[in-house]
Amino acid sequence: MASPSTRFSALALLAIVAPAAVVAILGYVSIRQWEASSELLYREQARDMAAMAAEKVEMTLRRADDAFLDRLQAALRSGPVSERALDALVADSPLIRRLYLVGQRGELLYPGAWRDGDAAVFGPLVSAGALRLLERDGRREVVASHQVCLALLTRPGGEPVAAAFLRDTETVRREVLETTLGGLESSTILAVLDHEGRTIYTKAPLDDAQRVLSVGFREALPDWRLAVYQSPGASPRQAVRRQVMLFTGALGVLVAVIVAGIVMTWRLMRRETEMARLKSDFVANVSHDLKTPLSVIRMFGETLEMGRVTDEGRRQEYYRVITREGERLSRLIDNVLDFSRIEGGRQTYDMTPTAVEPLIRGTLEAFAYPLAQQGFKVEVRVAADLPEVTLDADAVGQALANLIDNAIKYSGDDRAVTIEARVADGWLVIAVSDRGLGIAPEEQAKIFEKFYRVGRSDTQGRRGSGVGLALVRHIAEAHGGAIAVESAPGEGSRFSLRLPVGGA
Ligand code: ADP
Repeated sequence: MASPSTRFSALALLAIVAPAAVVAILGYVSIRQWEASSELLYREQARDMAAMAAEKVEMTLRRADDAFLDRLQAALRSGPVSERALDALVADSPLIRRLYLVGQRGELLYPGAWRDGDAAVFGPLVSAGALRLLERDGRREVVASHQVCLALLTRPGGEPVAAAFLRDTETVRREVLETTLGGLESSTILAVLDHEGRTIYTKAPLDDAQRVLSVGFREALPDWRLAVYQSPGASPRQAVRRQVMLFTGALGVLVAVIVAGIVMTWRLMRRETEMARLKSDFVANVSHDLKTPLSVIRMFGETLEMGRVTDEGRRQEYYRVITREGERLSRLIDNVLDFSRIEGGRQTYDMTPTAVEPLIRGTLEAFAYPLAQQGFKVEVRVAADLPEVTLDADAVGQALANLIDNAIKYSGDDRAVTIEARVADGWLVIAVSDRGLGIAPEEQAKIFEKFYRVGRSDTQGRRGSGVGLALVRHIAEAHGGAIAVESAPGEGSRFSLRLPVGGA
């Protein structure tokens, strides 16, 4: 059956991952739609902008043409014009590369002759028939090999004169295209292409820019086109793709945070559950530990009280048992009380310079009876020159007692306890070794945690509360020292309590 925590994580996963997945799918679908509509919108906007720009160019060009034609008309109206005056007028108008004036019957009035094969281009345009067409519209733009503009002017007598002029492309580029298009703010690139598709003007290098669309100009620049390009990486599709990536990344981070949160909550819950279980084990273990010596004391006390034991030697033995069990009981109660004081942060230590050897021997003395009764081989190796060490004698004695108690409790058939004390590198090291059950490497760090017992409540059949080593560690650390274990299963353990010689 699934445990509550597994059920919780499955539920939490479903409750959080499912909405996250729905959000992801919806986000993806809407981004796809957005991608398509933004492309459409982009093209529409580009077309509008291009049409507007073309209109602007057209107007500027027309204005420049008109300005020239007005000046020419003014000159013609004032009477006969000399060829030199017209030369000066053309030279003064950078937009005009060449000008021809043609009479009503197609005769060339200015200049004296056609230049550079212009006759072939202009001839048909200014023939009598063509001029009649011009009379209707007043003005006409034609593209032959160049842009030619035709306009009908009048001489003083009302006689019509056709003016045909060729625009200077460079001036058109510089003074019309650059001034009108150069100032337009746009993320796209505008370019003007001539009737043969050559780029006459561009706002920025086209390199590998892509053409989005192109629109034609109206009459002023027939057959020329205004094209809209987009630079690589600037297309709406790519912008949307970047958004998609950003969105996906953010969603990924969100999901990762959620998963990390679930994992952390789950681990915390597991730890809490484990702690609750350890605490309930602790209560059961302590109660049992208290009951055992109490029942022994009661049994032996009652036996003695009834006066049934006549043999003095046995009586003495019973008294010793009562005393030993009483001591065990006090130790146990001390452990629990100290532990609760430590947990509540109320434990204080009374540091005084203490002779180490008497402390060790005195503590061991309390275990003389069980050690002898269970046939333990006891060895005490205390270095001769141990200095006095500043410590809380009761606390360190209690720590030592816990270590000796464990050495007795967790020994098998090979019963030997060795206690060593020496000073090394400014540390007093008191080591308690046994040849007992030993501790597996993966358990060695955990045994110092509160309530932890190897193999749970009845470690290898031995009772205990699981707070002994936690207390030892706390006492060691309160002295500025440490506790360490070296152990191998089946070979015994060695607990080394290190305390600074100079005190904490
Ligand atoms: P307990 O009351 O269970 O003895 P401790 O905190 O003193 O609690 O010890 C924690 C656990 O460490 C014990 O349950 C035992 O499994 C293991 N342990 C402690 N000392 C020894 C030892 N000398 N040899 C083997 N195992 C030990």
